[in-house]
Amino acid sequence: MDNAAAWKRLEGWREDASSVAVLTDIDGTLAPIVPTPDMSEVPGELLDLLRELSGRYLLVAGISGRKTEDAFDLIGLDEVVYFGNHGFELLRDGEVEVIPDAMPFLERVQELESRAREELVPLGAFVEEKGITASIHYRNAPPETGERSVAFVKAEGERLGLRITVGRGVVEARPPIRADKGTAVRALVEEYRPKKAMFLGDDTTDLDAFRELAALLEEGTLNEILRVGVRSDEGPPEIVTEADIVVDGVEGVGEVLRALAGR
Ligand SMILES: [Mg+2]
Repeated sequence: MDNAAAWKRLEGWREDASSVAVLTDIDGTLAPIVPTPDMSEVPGELLDLLRELSGRYLLVAGISGRKTEDAFDLIGLDEVVYFGNHGFELLRDGEVEVIPDAMPFLERVQELESRAREELVPLGAFVEEKGITASIHYRNAPPETGERSVAFVKAEGERLGLRITVGRGVVEARPPIRADKGTAVRALVEEYRPKKAMFLGDDTTDLDAFRELAALLEEGTLNEILRVGVRSDEGPPEIVTEADIVVDGVEGVGEVLRALAGR
């Protein structure tokens, strides 16, 4: 679909808001990218628009890689549903829910966290409490602590049947099931049953959401979709090539939300 046809579709959805789900990434889409994540802020005008859209559309949801409570703190609207922690948790009406497929692993993640607290914290590592996933940070610890942390978490992860990933200064454990922005989109669509759904995003992990929308359309679960790509210098090229509508930065996202609100 070309850009003009996609905008026309978007405007048409206003008349049918009760069957439309508005799903969006947060960082880089609603909140401009800033040097450190704790400085992120969603502009007030976008918050007003999100509040208005929540009252009118079937569903407005923020989907983020961040901890679910952090996703909530960025937007702060009770009317919005938040999917966080890379698709493992959602927060609505003030309660965090772990997705059902991940629940059987919660105790094992907690066991790994408590073992890491005994073994690694005395060496200078930091255990971040993230609920259904565990993150052990060692960026500010001596190099031996980093090596020990990775080896320890890998061994414990294997024993407990968890998936382990090593990042920059961090080793993470998570349930060994697929959870990403795509599975989050599917879970919301299957629960809220919109006929039309859109996703707005700027980065690689958002492509999972774009592709899941395409699959939901293909199988007939959704009648119409819109993928809104937020163009930036750091984003992958597919965020533009796989989008129906391409906008520039957070200001461009404002145009999309204003069109949904009819402003
Ligand atoms: Mg983003």
